[in-house]
Amino acid sequence: MATHPREELTFLMVKPDGVRRGLTGEIVRRIEQVGLKIVGLELQRPSRKQVDDHYPKSREWINRLGEKTLNTYEKFGFDAIKELGTKDPAKIGPMVRKWLIDFMTSAPVVIMAVKGVHAVAMIRKLAGPTMPVDAPLGTIRGDFSVDSPAVANREKRSVFNLVHASETEAEAKHEMQHWFGRAVIHDYARTDDEVFK
Ligand code: ADP
Repeated sequence: MATHPREELTFLMVKPDGVRRGLTGEIVRRIEQVGLKIVGLELQRPSRKQVDDHYPKSREWINRLGEKTLNTYEKFGFDAIKELGTKDPAKIGPMVRKWLIDFMTSAPVVIMAVKGVHAVAMIRKLAGPTMPVDAPLGTIRGDFSVDSPAVANREKRSVFNLVHASETEAEAKHEMQHWFGRAVIHDYARTDDEVFK
């Protein structure tokens, strides 16, 4: 836990679709506008290993990814056996994970360290739910993307949803370390921090 709620730190990434669509500035604007502070910012072209190490490798996470994809196939009446050669979530999961790595290494990404009151929850709120089709208007995913697993899985690719945001403080800590490593985080006082004091 952060020592003070104002000190909470989180990690956000503008994925390749966000960078290629020129939405980095808009995303930065939304984060700053809400009163959060960007303390680290960098454009990177990640390696496959970097992305591979970013996403969990546990059987549980991979199976969940496979199950979600299988559910989509069933919901929309697609034949998983015909299109993917299997109906086993444990085999589909790794395929989806590979689509995700292909996507995340297809262009540069922008990594950000964001600090502020309830930064983790606030950034998740700004991003919106994982699937753009479910994301309400007013969120980054809801306002700027229209993708869904029905299309993505059919096209054998990852869902394009513009940003990644840490889900918990523990995940944020791990992802900060993974993406920023020894890079310096530049802290400073926002003027509104002083106004609220
Ligand atoms: P989040 O990014 O919101 O934390 P997850 O950790 O569940 O969501 O998934 C990681 C990423 O994998 C998502 O952001 C999305 O790009 C992609 N993804 C998730 N589920 C699917 C799916 N069923 N088909 C294709 N891509 C998916």
